[in-house]
Amino acid sequence: MSMSRRRFLTAAAAGSALVVLATQQATLPPRRARWFLFGTLVDVELIEPAGHDATPVLALLAERLQRLHVDWHAWKPGRLGDLNRALASGLPYVAEPSLLALVRDAQSLSQRCGGLFNPAIGGLIGLWGFHRDEMLAGSIPSRDAIERLLDADVTPDALTFDGDTVRSRNPAVQLDLGAYAKGYALDLAQTLLHDHGFADAVVNAGGDLVASGRGPGRPWHIGIRHPSGRGTLALIETAGREAVVTSGNYERYRVLDGRRYAHILDPRTGWPAEAVASATVVCADAALADAASTAISVAGEQWPDVAVAFGIDQAMVVTADGRVQFTRAMYERVDPVNLRARAVSVIA
Ligand code: AMP
Ligand code: MG
Repeated sequence: MSMSRRRFLTAAAAGSALVVLATQQATLPPRRARWFLFGTLVDVELIEPAGHDATPVLALLAERLQRLHVDWHAWKPGRLGDLNRALASGLPYVAEPSLLALVRDAQSLSQRCGGLFNPAIGGLIGLWGFHRDEMLAGSIPSRDAIERLLDADVTPDALTFDGDTVRSRNPAVQLDLGAYAKGYALDLAQTLLHDHGFADAVVNAGGDLVASGRGPGRPWHIGIRHPSGRGTLALIETAGREAVVTSGNYERYRVLDGRRYAHILDPRTGWPAEAVASATVVCADAALADAASTAISVAGEQWPDVAVAFGIDQAMVVTADGRVQFTRAMYERVDPVNLRARAVSVIA
């Protein structure tokens, strides 16, 4: 039976781009937990091996993720806020190890894609009004204000590291790790579960997901939602440990005079990236998939070059005008639930 014709009994996390689908063949139900973190619902499903109660590890995981949520928050008080204040005043900042690793890796990922993923544009993201829980009504930033920030030439290349001390040569650098920290946290979450003996798990943070092992009696099935929110576009069955991460310009946006201004910004222009509605990346590493899916969203028609730059062979893009584009390796593994009527092409 094709995966698309199986009957789906549950669909997790309303509002997320990805859903974990359970089938009728399911035997023992997986253990579940859900928290609201990183601005989204975080759902965990795992298989408890006989005699292994996941309660303590789920409590530990909740505590760790809550800590990272606070430490890495782009605009609320926390360690990243402290770091940003130091960078703005040219002062050295001694970073705690997980923040240091996050920032170092973000710098190198940004370099790999020519700065389309640019975690140093926190000032610009704030200027556009995205450093808030609720989107603001009111006007968009002036062209002058955007130009001033572009002229400041903010890139993470300005960061220098000396042991655990970080400083910036450019005081306009403000880190916003929103395109990438969630993926990083998901990798840490999967590793923690694995190290505690839970090898079969899915951790799904509303669009960013890492699966490992197998679901109850069969592989995990992941549904990739259409960016319009209408139904599932495609399904994939994961094997081993795999991240499936989607960036969508439909996730957060402001509407002014009937026009949408989405939260993924093109660091070259200072304006929202508009050519891509959603970009899904599959690879072993969720942090890489997260940075790459954002960079692919920014790249528009040139996205296959970005996938190559990141060493990613499985990606799917829905363009703003509704075309669905695949890399060959992605096309070959997805079950096209809802692609028949769409303009589908394999372009990389
Ligand atoms: P994602 O959903 O992973 O694509 O992340 C989007 C978030 O990343 C936005 O809400 C911003 O906080 C931040 N962001 C927007 N544009 C960029 C960009 N070009 N590079 C890095 N981070 C960005
Ligand atoms: Mg991302």
